[in-house]
Amino acid sequence: MQHILDPDNEIINDWVREQRLPKFRAGQIRRWIYASGVSSFSDMTNLPVPVRQRLAAHFQWWTTRIAAHQKSEDGTEKLLLDLADGKRIECVLLRDGERRTICISTQVGCAMGCVFCASGIDGVDRNLTSGEIVEQMLRLRRLLPDGERLSHIVVMGMGEPLANLSNLLPVLNLASQQEGLGISPRRITISTVGLPSAMRRLIDSGVAYNLAVSLHAANDALRDQLVPANARAGLKSILTAADAYFAASGRRLTYEYVLLGGVNDRRCDALELAGLLRGRQALLNLIPYNPVAGLPYQMPSARSVQNFSSLLEQQGINIQIRRRKGARIDAACGQLRRSRASTPAQETKL
Ligand code: SAH
Repeated sequence: MQHILDPDNEIINDWVREQRLPKFRAGQIRRWIYASGVSSFSDMTNLPVPVRQRLAAHFQWWTTRIAAHQKSEDGTEKLLLDLADGKRIECVLLRDGERRTICISTQVGCAMGCVFCASGIDGVDRNLTSGEIVEQMLRLRRLLPDGERLSHIVVMGMGEPLANLSNLLPVLNLASQQEGLGISPRRITISTVGLPSAMRRLIDSGVAYNLAVSLHAANDALRDQLVPANARAGLKSILTAADAYFAASGRRLTYEYVLLGGVNDRRCDALELAGLLRGRQALLNLIPYNPVAGLPYQMPSARSVQNFSSLLEQQGINIQIRRRKGARIDAACGQLRRSRASTPAQETKL
């Protein structure tokens, strides 16, 4: 069966043609899927009943099952999804004032090996299909009450988005189109460990999404330890590719820096980081480490976060400290999946 959520328009167009239906039916079907809140073919009330039945016989709508659904008091909700092949991924809805941000995954697991991250502990299983990425968006949208819309997308869930760019780009294109989810590219952020060749591909494709580069260290010796994928590229080529993305897209760059107590939160780290970012039009997002069971890292003390950020500010760096959201529900990517690794899937009624 074909997946109706595959963002390739031709899948629905071809089917409509094969069925000898008028062309406008394809647009109607897409509007039901992306602009309305319905989630089954039988609800597509402006289509003749036999057409709805033939759609249901040919296409699959939901390929995932909700294995767990957690809500935190701050409005964060997290879904653990079972994929058709039994693998599991996570995705998150974050509420912040008027913002309704979704955080989506691009791979099952991750190959980048960042030593403090739960997603990559067992390596990568496979890339998600485009349809599986779209499905996360629609599943999260269904958590909103009537009248509320998704406003932002961050590609910061499990996996390295730039290692699955071919499947991700059609999804973000759909998300940013009016007839898709209507979320402006300015409100879409791709977070990467920094893969220079894929960053150049992003430039060549002419997209204008925000880019966030996960830095975590200001020199190669420390970064090689924390982000093993660094050994192949090195900081210099990553920063050069990020500068080029900024020049080409005009989108503000963000650098993310997870603060690990006693590892990369020292005064010398702050000064070296300031040296690296000075003169660059970038925002530095400081993220206090979110503890992962079984990993030997410590949260930074409140004082060291304060000292670290003050030093950078004194050096003229634009910083922001990321507040922890959904900490109680393991909202840091990959954590819920690990804690539920041996729990059988429960049917959750939506
Ligand atoms: N692979 C991409 C996107 C997924 S991770 C990337 O590396 O950017 C999204 C962000 O969460 C990254 O900055 C990552 O370093 C950070 N992160 C991972 N584990 C974390 C943890 N335990 N605590 C805090 N931030 C974490």
